[in-house]
Amino acid sequence: MQQTCRNPWCAQAFTITDDDLAFYDKVSPVFNGKKEPIPPPTLCPECRMQRHLAFRNERSLQKRTSSLSGAPIVSMYSEDKPFQVYSQSEWWSDHWDPLQYGQSWDASSSFFSQLASLLSGVPKNCLHNLEAENAEYANYCWHNKNCYLIFGSDKNQDSLYSLWIYECQNVVDCAFCYNSSLLYQCVDSVRCYQSVHCQDCEDVRDCWYGYDLKGCSRCFACVGLRQKDLHAFNKPVTEEEWKSLIRQGMTNRMEQAFLALRQTRPHRAVHHINTEDAQGEYIVHSSRIINSFDIRNSQDIRYSHDIFDRGKDCAHCSFSGEAELCYECYEVKGHAIAFCNRNWLPSSNSLYLWDCDDCHHCFACVGLRKKSYCILNKQYTKEEYEALVPKIIAKMRADGEWGEFFPVTMSPFAYNETVAQEYFPLTKEEVLARGWKWREQTDEMPKVEKIIPAAQLPDSINDIPDDILNWAIECEATKRPFKIIKQELEFYRQMRLPVPHFHPDERHRRRMALRNPRKLWKRECMKCGKAIETSYAPERPEIVYCESCYLAAVY
Ligand SMILES: [Zn+2]
Ligand SMILES: [Zn+2]
Repeated sequence: MQQTCRNPWCAQAFTITDDDLAFYDKVSPVFNGKKEPIPPPTLCPECRMQRHLAFRNERSLQKRTSSLSGAPIVSMYSEDKPFQVYSQSEWWSDHWDPLQYGQSWDASSSFFSQLASLLSGVPKNCLHNLEAENAEYANYCWHNKNCYLIFGSDKNQDSLYSLWIYECQNVVDCAFCYNSSLLYQCVDSVRCYQSVHCQDCEDVRDCWYGYDLKGCSRCFACVGLRQKDLHAFNKPVTEEEWKSLIRQGMTNRMEQAFLALRQTRPHRAVHHINTEDAQGEYIVHSSRIINSFDIRNSQDIRYSHDIFDRGKDCAHCSFSGEAELCYECYEVKGHAIAFCNRNWLPSSNSLYLWDCDDCHHCFACVGLRKKSYCILNKQYTKEEYEALVPKIIAKMRADGEWGEFFPVTMSPFAYNETVAQEYFPLTKEEVLARGWKWREQTDEMPKVEKIIPAAQLPDSINDIPDDILNWAIECEATKRPFKIIKQELEFYRQMRLPVPHFHPDERHRRRMALRNPRKLWKRECMKCGKAIETSYAPERPEIVYCESCYLAAVY
């Protein structure tokens, strides 16, 4: 069936298939033996993605104090937020009881307004960063050691300023990289070693400025090569020539030549690895995937993104793993849950949970742990629970709330603090016109001896004194001041890299711009004319091939 997106500023048409309807039926919850059907979505897939992202503040971190102990903390919630924020150890401790904020359901007022009132009372966890060792400045992270300003990343060591990195060591300024070490400014690369400015590369070492390289070593500014050693601009060079190129680094003229080389080589329509029946982009070791992005080791996933491991039979989920039969969930693990926001210790058979862990048969709760049969943070018996939830759902259905994720107005963050602003950028006026929040962000002036414009930095790392750790650098693009930390300076020296001229946020923005948008276009293979779906928009200059023409061209 054809549906029109309910957001008046969007109103685009989208399709709901019979297969989608069968899925909504399958995940519809049952209370007292009676199924409560989840209706088809009212927002188009992009507006649903934007709604999830508007709840995710990854990188806008602030120094503030804990509302419980007054201890200094780093937090994704700025001090002006109208609720209590605890340090991570305080939040995870037994020193407070989320049930004390419990409310009785009020049949005369809307569900979301009651949930919003509960949400404003229950203390928030300053960051989601578990089992961190010397890695306090990190968010949505797990098991990292000696890391700084990394986000959505697990099991890394000695890594800085990166997003979505897994099992990496000594990587700086990278995104979507796995099982790699000694990388700088790399994107979408796997099992790489000691490489700089590589994108879509696998099993490479000592490569600088590489695009779509596999099994290569000692390359400079190469594109689409397989199992090559000592190449520059796709032509063989001597070891001395290669060394001289990486000593010199990329000049403007060479960069133009590299970009020109990229435009002459065929690009894969999509970057999947070992998939079956996959529609989307960056799908890895997965099967039966519909319209999804960055999905790994998963099956039967639709309209989802950033499913990092073992997703099964999920729809409209994001930043989740080890999840089965989940619908409209964000940052969850578990089974048969819907409309939940951040749940890391697996939960099951629950709806509308927020920051709850290890909860089962719960509805509309905030900050609970190891609980069952709770509604609005109030404990019920199984029988009471099964009788009351259908009444709440009936009221939600009447109010047009049933089957919807939390409205963006319930996000604790301003829109421009969240990842939504990265994927769906809006002006302040547009944000306010939609009734969403905006926050003016100003940098705290670093307490330093001096601030120097980036253009005045010496080109060679050999000429950078230790004293730089006491300065701030003024970003060449945004004029925002930023500091270099000791671990970072040691990395640049080890890798013989110049000190960056841009603020970490600007570096992040430029890195993310290297990736294609999370959108698919129907086009034709530019070699054989076969119909393809690709994340390369039709007006882009790249040569885009179907998988078989691409493989024939590069091997
Ligand atoms: Zn829409
Ligand atoms: Zn083709």
